[in-house]
Amino acid sequence: MTSTKVDEAKAALERGQFDAAFRLSEEAQTEQPEDPAAREMYAVVHLARAIRLSDRAREARRQDLLRREIEYDEEFQDSPEVARAYDEAAQDSPEVARAYDEAAAAIDDVLRVAPDNWKARMLKAALVFRRDRESGRPQALEILEALAAADPTNKQIPFTIRKIERPCARCSDTGFCPHCKGRGQRRFLRMDRKCEQCYGRGICPACGVL
Ligand SMILES: [Zn+2]
Ligand SMILES: [Zn+2]
Repeated sequence: MTSTKVDEAKAALERGQFDAAFRLSEEAQTEQPEDPAAREMYAVVHLARAIRLSDRAREARRQDLLRREIEYDEEFQDSPEVARAYDEAAQDSPEVARAYDEAAAAIDDVLRVAPDNWKARMLKAALVFRRDRESGRPQALEILEALAAADPTNKQIPFTIRKIERPCARCSDTGFCPHCKGRGQRRFLRMDRKCEQCYGRGICPACGVL
């Protein structure tokens, strides 16, 4: 019976019916929590959702910065007023905070069923780090160090640890792209153009590797 639900979930995924796949993977997992196929399907489907929600949280923050429309004239970049306005903008609105909460909950859904899921653990490290440097850095490093210990052949993880273990000088450790101040676009000759440094994502190219 469970294998049927897993098969159905797989078929739904292939048809691009994500909601159906999501529901079926939940049912399969609830019916037979110990079944490896059901667990794997649950992890795959829930991870896809967690990735989408993490991207949405990042995008919500960028949109928020854009909405507040801090005019960031290059000439006044270092003036205290602009720096203060920018600090205020860096505080997440309730909407952005909610988007981060939802993404965190979605990742925890995956980890509850598949605690060793490598991608979900990476995603969690990235999310906590991106959300709040101060509390997120030690948490992210703890996850990354555990992953590095579990797979010493992986070169990507030590690289990532080195990138994030110290406050980033490029972005004053705000995590925002210093070229567009997190907006993902720059104004040039009265036209908004996609920021090429961060590919329009608004995150610092140096420490945004995570
Ligand atoms: Zn940075
Ligand atoms: Zn940028």
